[in-house]
Amino acid sequence: MSPVSVIGRFAPSPSGDLHFGSLVSAVGSYLEARSAGGAWLLRVEDIDPPREVSGSARRIIDDLSRLGLEPDGPVLYQSSRLEAYQHAVNHLLEKGLAYPCTCSRKDIPASGIYQGTCRGGIAKGKKPRSIRFRVKNGKVQFTDKLQGQITDSPAGISGDFIIRRADGLFAYQLAVVVDDEFQAVTQVVRGADLLDSTTRQIRLQEALGFESPHYMHLPVALSADGKKLSKRLQADPVKHQDPAFAVAQALQFLGQEPPTGLSLDTLWKWALEHWSSDLIPHRKAILQN
Ligand SMILES: [Zn+2]
Repeated sequence: MSPVSVIGRFAPSPSGDLHFGSLVSAVGSYLEARSAGGAWLLRVEDIDPPREVSGSARRIIDDLSRLGLEPDGPVLYQSSRLEAYQHAVNHLLEKGLAYPCTCSRKDIPASGIYQGTCRGGIAKGKKPRSIRFRVKNGKVQFTDKLQGQITDSPAGISGDFIIRRADGLFAYQLAVVVDDEFQAVTQVVRGADLLDSTTRQIRLQEALGFESPHYMHLPVALSADGKKLSKRLQADPVKHQDPAFAVAQALQFLGQEPPTGLSLDTLWKWALEHWSSDLIPHRKAILQN
């Protein structure tokens, strides 16, 4: 692959079939990268086997392909990246930016914010369970292309957060940061339900010496009762829909106005020529009927 200046990605977890919510992220990340002459990569976030649905990674990739969404380059599986995650954890431990924690779930207050119990070392006779990242105090600020300027204090959202779990699995926050760097991703386009995670990821990028990508958080589709649409539509995965219809629905959700009745090929041609992120509603969620 020749070097390109813009690299976007779509990173589904194989916990079910492709549904409308994830299709919106796929279409948004694809068009934002490709319309700028960039590359679009696909990463399967399969680092949490207990939550995996057997065969869903393959089905997601096949569905994307049927919808005309072909990645530039091979699919990256996070399950093949465990050494890199361990390397990052070791690096943070060596620099004193991470530490072992003996606390179990029942030791964490209802707020979910870790109080730093093991920050200064673990109590005698206790066995380390997880590894936590030492979150620097203070605010993190970044400009989201859609949501505007975001200021958050990651210490206040989660406190020191887990990067390697008690069961030995690596945490999403760590893996995503290590892989965005590994894949040289320059722009992260994803659902606004992950907006909260971003300042934690920026803190990790700082600690690991990585440059932060640009961020654009798309509105999430909610059903009228406020639930994530993905849950409700599980019964009606994208694979049961006509590909051109499914892509047109996602484009409309993102504020684009494709002409009706186009074939899949013509629709993508239209979308690449007319894609405008300015038209995407600047909101975190949109209710759908
Ligand atoms: Zn602890």
